[in-house]
Amino acid sequence: MAVQTVATTSDSTVDLGPAAALSCRECGHRVPLGPVFACEECFGPLEIAYDFSAYDTEELRRRIEAGPASIWRYAPLLPVPADVAGKPNLNPGWTKLVKADNLARELGVTGGLYVKDDSGNPTHSFKDRVVAQALEAARAFGFTTLSCSSTGNLAGAVGAAAARAGFRSCVFIPHDLEQGKVVMAAVYGGELVGIEGNYDDVNRFCSELIGDPAGEGWGFVNVNLRPYYAEGSKTLAYEICEQLGWRLPDQIVIPIASGSQLTKIDKGLQELIKLGLVEDRPYKIFGAQAEGCSPVSTAFKAGHDVVRPQKPDTIAKSLAIGNPADGPYVLDVARRTGGAVEDVTDAEIVDAIRLLARTEGIFAETAGGVTVGVTRKLLAEGLLDPAKTTVVLNTGDGLKTLDAVAGTGLTATIRPTLDSFREAGLA
Ligand SMILES: *Cc1c(COP(=O)(O)O)cnc(C)c1O
Repeated sequence: MAVQTVATTSDSTVDLGPAAALSCRECGHRVPLGPVFACEECFGPLEIAYDFSAYDTEELRRRIEAGPASIWRYAPLLPVPADVAGKPNLNPGWTKLVKADNLARELGVTGGLYVKDDSGNPTHSFKDRVVAQALEAARAFGFTTLSCSSTGNLAGAVGAAAARAGFRSCVFIPHDLEQGKVVMAAVYGGELVGIEGNYDDVNRFCSELIGDPAGEGWGFVNVNLRPYYAEGSKTLAYEICEQLGWRLPDQIVIPIASGSQLTKIDKGLQELIKLGLVEDRPYKIFGAQAEGCSPVSTAFKAGHDVVRPQKPDTIAKSLAIGNPADGPYVLDVARRTGGAVEDVTDAEIVDAIRLLARTEGIFAETAGGVTVGVTRKLLAEGLLDPAKTTVVLNTGDGLKTLDAVAGTGLTATIRPTLDSFREAGLA
């Protein structure tokens, strides 16, 4: 893939706060901040390198705690300008960390079980976090059109963020997504294009579009702005630790689509340790996939370093990436931390959605069914320790994937009389 270098008006003056450079994850080669995503030396993925050297731990902690109830409380740790909170954006984040005691009882977890519920974000998925970072990069680089390849949630998050910030948006999705995702992506008034193919086809198309004059000047949040986008997932790590009282959880269960979120949560935890904001102790990261799209868990269980692409077939469409860009890095994180990667069937996903709803009053989308289902399976396999503090991510809202729980509905239909009510056997 050609490395795009877009001439911007502001290259020499980009203000992205503590972000210092882009650094190759494979060979460490550094380049100035810009809308590039692949290393010019080895084609490895670029990620943000920071200069945090000026921070004093206690002063930083105070500054964060006095910050807004959004991801912007962590602006000193993100690739964004210092005054970011004043710019038009959706101010996502600072979602609830729910102590899930009922679910813990059902699953036999005694060490404390929490659900980090990202359905509470402005467009009801975790994607608002990553889009907010990409938006600031797009502003800094002078883009006026926001775009993406999406499994659904990202399209909605880009559409909404673009609407609020005054950008044009044109986003691309597989043509056969859930109705809730399509409506959610279209309602903000941007352009929404269905592609005849799966997500991997959509992504390939977007890579071609970036290299073509037709896509010139476009900020693809998860392609040419991916290094910035990806950093948004670190805020999940920051929030979980701050909400636990500046403490690392022992175990975290995270869904995997491209794998970006999981690897960046690990990056965020590592940063908190280095900055002295949490005590350095071991934690384990667990990845969750649907059996119908399980390239990473398949590689993990086989002991492979290479992730072999699959053709997705699962109801967990938001996670249906058959060729995950960050798959090998996910394997590294799971193995280094002593975690694992596991998958569950569509039937287990639906069961888990119902279990979470019935025990905690949280209605998760299929991705949340994947993490809760995998949590249950990992406990049964003895890979998750029930006596340890465990955080399970719910990254999206069940209202967007209603078909998954089709058949759920009325207990009875009665005439508006007490006799009729008694006849229904509900008294
Ligand atoms: C995008 C998405 C994820 C994970 O995405 P990664 O590509 O692995 O970062 C998880 N859950 C939901 C609901 C998503 O939309």
